Amino acid sequence: METTELKEKIKTMENIDWKNLPFGYFKTDYNVRCYYKNGAWGKLEVTDSEYVNIHIAATALHYGQEAFEGLKAFKGKDGKVRVFRWEENSKRMNNSAQGTLMQPVPAELFKEAMITVIKKNERFIPPYGTGASLYVRPLLIGSGAEVGVKPAKEYLFMVFVGPVGPYFKEGFKPVSIQIVRDYDRAAPLGTGHIKVGGNYASSLQASERSHAEGFSSVLFLDAKEKKYIDECGPANFFAIKDNKYITPKSVSILPSITNMSLKDIAKDMGMEVECRRIPVEELATFEEVGACGTAAVITPIKKILDRENGLEYLYCKDGEAGPVSTKLYNKLKGIQLGEEEDKFGWNFIID
Ligand SMILES: *Cc1c(COP(=O)(O)O)cnc(C)c1O
Repeated sequence: METTELKEKIKTMENIDWKNLPFGYFKTDYNVRCYYKNGAWGKLEVTDSEYVNIHIAATALHYGQEAFEGLKAFKGKDGKVRVFRWEENSKRMNNSAQGTLMQPVPAELFKEAMITVIKKNERFIPPYGTGASLYVRPLLIGSGAEVGVKPAKEYLFMVFVGPVGPYFKEGFKPVSIQIVRDYDRAAPLGTGHIKVGGNYASSLQASERSHAEGFSSVLFLDAKEKKYIDECGPANFFAIKDNKYITPKSVSILPSITNMSLKDIAKDMGMEVECRRIPVEELATFEEVGACGTAAVITPIKKILDRENGLEYLYCKDGEAGPVSTKLYNKLKGIQLGEEEDKFGWNFIID
């Protein structure tokens, strides 16, 4: 290692307050990009610029041809760097590409980009035991110019990374959420099932209002009948009752890889898994409820307020997360950190 590089490395180790990182953007050394032009993907490029030079008429800017992913890399106790289930993110990004008529990204390119950007920013991978991790953000956009509404002929695939702390700084502590009936996140036959920016744009109003009213997140109901639980803000919803892990079945929910993993862990722990419609009134019968996603793994929920009729559903009477949510959370975190046996083969080791 060159001395300047070594000095930089020492500087980073000294300067980053790993234990108090927020969940936010953090400037690192490099990101990677690959352009699709003339019917083919080009070579992967490594750059130190945080900016993208993009055509003023790019379809991503006007017509929302855009999809993103989020996954994490963890430094284990054994010093190894593990990426959690990247193949699923690669598949999901291509579902999003298909849903918005973008050029899919070959899995091999996704993998090369991910490995390259993680290795290039090795000094930003948070040490084991800090509760922090390296967040990996792949992004696919229509970069070709069009004025009429049609898919672009050119695409840009990028990946940047950054160290992040726990999604909620309070840690694994129960939060309050709010059922909203005056906003929808996605239509039943719309784009709710794919990870595109438009879904976030249409959820911002409800989400910002809920924060202003003192809630961590909103709980959307199905847009058509307003009878069933749908998406929990930027996360999936799950509930525990009678040794069952129950999660909503809906065409407008984004298939969470965390949820998929928790279902497998629940089954492995001897629980039954139900993926079905969940009527709002059933909230009164659950022992535990929570939200799940890459950012927080599980966010336990202590209170759900139905904003329109004032009904309240209360959980975590002692203020702590329920025993089943805690067990699921510890198991999944343990696998990601290499503390628990990776019996499902979910980790990819970067070496
Ligand atoms: C990304 C996302 C999730 C969580 O998915 P994970 O793969 O578990 O991170 C859930 N809901 C929405 C709307 C999302 O965008």
